[in-house]
Amino acid sequence: MERDLQPNHCACGCGGACRDKWLPGHDQRLRAAIENEVGGLVELRRIVEELLHRRIDLKQTTNNRGHHRQH
Ligand SMILES: [Zn+2]
Repeated sequence: MERDLQPNHCACGCGGACRDKWLPGHDQRLRAAIENEVGGLVELRRIVEELLHRRIDLKQTTNNRGHHRQH
């Protein structure tokens, strides 16, 4: 049995089936939609920082895909 093509659903919520977390370009689409909704990336950062009660550390964003980093 080949299980390579086991479908996931795109994380943007479009309902599309894909092998990865996103259909091609849909992560950018979601990012753009969020930025548009809140008024830009700076506003988005402010909102998230407010929610988390801490500053977003730019040094930790370089390799943030998939794996959880262990301390
Ligand atoms: Zn999608």
